[in-house]
Amino acid sequence: MTLIEQLAARSPVVTDGAWGTQLQARGLQPGECPDAWNLLAAERVEAVARAYVEAGSQVILTNTFRANRLTLAGHGLAEKTAAINRAGAAISRRAAEGRARVFASIGPSGKLLMTGETTEAELRAAFAEQAQALAEGGAEAILIETMSDLAEAKLALEAARETGLAVVVSMVFDSGRNKDRTMMGATPEQAARELDEAGADAVGANCGSGIAAYIPICRRLRAATDRPLWIKPNAGLPELIEGRTVYRTTPEEFASHVPALIEAGANFIGGCCGTGPEFIRKIVESG
Ligand SMILES: [Zn+2]
Repeated sequence: MTLIEQLAARSPVVTDGAWGTQLQARGLQPGECPDAWNLLAAERVEAVARAYVEAGSQVILTNTFRANRLTLAGHGLAEKTAAINRAGAAISRRAAEGRARVFASIGPSGKLLMTGETTEAELRAAFAEQAQALAEGGAEAILIETMSDLAEAKLALEAARETGLAVVVSMVFDSGRNKDRTMMGATPEQAARELDEAGADAVGANCGSGIAAYIPICRRLRAATDRPLWIKPNAGLPELIEGRTVYRTTPEEFASHVPALIEAGANFIGGCCGTGPEFIRKIVESG
C-alpha cells in the first residue's frame, strides 16, 4: 500500500490551510518571495507548519508552492531552487515531529504552455528538479496543486513520479458558466480520468470559489475515479475591499459543509486561500 492508500483507509484525513496569509501575519511583505523564507526566516515558516500540526492537521504541506526554477528566476533566485525546496521539506518535517505527514507542495510554473511562453521540456525539467529536491529534503509524498492546465499538471506528475514518492494532483475548478471547469476548460470528469490514467495516486480540487461549490465537484470526481480524493476549498470567493483581498467564510460555516463533502466522497480535507489553523480546528472538532 502506498502512504496515500494507508491514510485514505482511515478517511477523512484532515490536511492543512493556507500558508501565504499565515506568513504575512508573521511579517512577509507584499511582493516578497514566500518560498525564499525557507532560507531567510526558517523559524517563522516552521511556526506556520507547527500551528497546523497543533490545530490537528494529519497532513501538512511545505512552503514550496512557487519554488520551481521558472518562478524563482523572477526573484533572481533560480540558483537557490534546490536549497529552497530541500529546506522547505526539512522545515515541515521538523514541525511535524512524526505527528503529521509531510506532503510537499508544487504549484504551477506561472508560464503558459498554450501561448509558447514555455515548452514541455522546460516544464518537465523544472518540475523534476523541484520534486527531486523535495524528496531529498524528506517529503513523504508530493502534492501538485492549484493547476489550471491539465497538460502542465500531467508533466509535473510525470516528473514527480520519478522520485518514487506517491503523488496527488489537484486542479482548480472555477471557470465556465457553471464554475465547474478549469481555466483551460477541463471538466472534473476529464481531469479525474486523465490524471488517474497518468498514474496519480490521488486526485482533487483546491482553491476555487468556496466549499459549497466544491461539493458537487467532489461528487463528479468521485464518479469518475476510484482514487482517493483530495479537496481543499477557499474560504469563499475573494472580495476586494479597500485594496485588500477578503474571504468571508468563517471557520464555523466552513466546517458545517464538511459532512456533505465527506458524503460526496472526499478523503483528504483541508482549506485553501482565506483559511487558517482555526478552520482546521473546527474541521477536527466537527469530525
Ligand atoms: Zn487557494
